Amino acid sequence: MKLSTASVVSLCVLSAASAATPPRFDPQRLSAEVKELSSDAFEGRGPATPGETKTIAYVIAQMKEAGLQPGGDLKDGKRAWTQAVPLSRSEIKGTPKLALSVGSKTQLLTQGEEIAVRAAMDGSKSVAIENAPLVFVGYGVNAPERKWDDFKGVDLHGKVAIVLINDPDFEAGEGDFGGKAMTYYGRWTYKFEEAARQGAAGLLIVHETDPASYTWKTVKNSNINTMFDIVRDKPGSVHPKLEAWIQRDLAVDLFKRSGLDFDALKKQAQTRGFKPVVLKDATFSADYAVDAKVITSQNIVGRIEGSKRPDETVIYSAHWDHLGVGSPDAKGDRIYNGAVDNGTGTAALIELGRAFAHAPKPERSVVFLNVTAEEKGLLGSEYYSSKPLYPLAKTVAVLNMDALDPMGPARNFTTSGSAKSGLLDLLIADAKAAGLAYSPDPHPEAGHFFRSDHFPFAKQGVPAISFGSGNDLVDGGVAAGEAAKKDYVTNRYHQPADEWQASWTFAGMAHDLGVLYKVGSDLANSTRWPDWSQDSEFRAKRDATRNERQ
Ligand SMILES: [Zn+2]
Repeated sequence: MKLSTASVVSLCVLSAASAATPPRFDPQRLSAEVKELSSDAFEGRGPATPGETKTIAYVIAQMKEAGLQPGGDLKDGKRAWTQAVPLSRSEIKGTPKLALSVGSKTQLLTQGEEIAVRAAMDGSKSVAIENAPLVFVGYGVNAPERKWDDFKGVDLHGKVAIVLINDPDFEAGEGDFGGKAMTYYGRWTYKFEEAARQGAAGLLIVHETDPASYTWKTVKNSNINTMFDIVRDKPGSVHPKLEAWIQRDLAVDLFKRSGLDFDALKKQAQTRGFKPVVLKDATFSADYAVDAKVITSQNIVGRIEGSKRPDETVIYSAHWDHLGVGSPDAKGDRIYNGAVDNGTGTAALIELGRAFAHAPKPERSVVFLNVTAEEKGLLGSEYYSSKPLYPLAKTVAVLNMDALDPMGPARNFTTSGSAKSGLLDLLIADAKAAGLAYSPDPHPEAGHFFRSDHFPFAKQGVPAISFGSGNDLVDGGVAAGEAAKKDYVTNRYHQPADEWQASWTFAGMAHDLGVLYKVGSDLANSTRWPDWSQDSEFRAKRDATRNERQ
């Protein structure tokens, strides 16, 4: 959707408070905070470890010193600095027994090789699926606003469904699902949620590297170990009993033995007319026990109460957690320090808090939300958005920061995914005024929009965005920016080497935070409610609470 002239004009109307002297962000302070958060003493900031205790104490002390008020759980009429986040932790006990049968022939499957099964997250202590019929349901999409339903009323109770990854127009590059860009219907989390809603006993996602945008190794490494979820009232409403991926070759062979052509069925699945197909004489069996327990982690919450409309909230968010202590790298280092990911976002959050605390009080409240367990599946933000401390209907926007560039400055910025919203329009306008051009996510098909902490808020309808540092560096241009990104992804991302460096200038962050401050300040000092574009899959959810914003 194009920005209308009217909204461009309204974006430029500044209120008195936000027109005051813009704050300066201090690179030294950002550097000191990232250094502390990513020091070995914090043990890689694993949730529910001694590293969490240290992190919480440090961030609260910084938020206090910056001038924020506690904005967490309400206890005896007083706000705490944290929101308790109960997490369920589940693990398959021993080696799971998994098998496919076609006719009289049974094939045993090896966990991690042909198949990757997650520990059950529907609350089951054991999984026993015996010869469940298999049904191919195309892309597994039920999208009423696009008049698309892959299920067509098929009964999946007691059955295991098979689906394709990404959304139906990924391969054609154009169609009802945003073309190459991934809608939420393409993301694997959606596929499992929808399978649960359809009542399936299990779901097998056929892994293909291109539409998934990652390899089988990622599928394997992220799903056959310990699984985490927020503690839910009805976990079975979003998790089928069996959640798994299978390799493409296995799927092709299985279809063939059932007398079906995988590629031909895939083509059909890319059309509205597709109907579910039962795999003749084919069944799936699984047998394993699950070890499940509940651990508690914390979101850290600082707040500034609004002077005129305190019940309306602008949220800045960043996750504090990283991977903790794990397998050693080549140098024998076992601490995953997480300096960039996400010491930078946490430092940014503290400094934005300081800037707001030193400015005239905003009209709306501003919340600084430092969430836990992002690395375990966006769980701290998922928990907040399912049990919000401040009503989501009156939450104006969420501005998330994750893994910012500690060098820079750049001439541009980006966002995770490019979902259209009035919030994105505002960010683009404020950034432009500060000399930053917008470079849309170059790979919207990879579904980055669904892989950051702003997303659980979007799913609830709240306009939300993740800001990303630019790649067009003032010093060296795109070539230097891309080289630095590549170096980070290859040599430091999710590795023990993501460590603070004395050479980091933080010049880019100090500049970009001015833009993020301006966006939040513009919103906190206005009566504006940015919204999703008309064709967004998040629009209906926001519209449902429209009355509460009048
Ligand atoms: Zn991160």
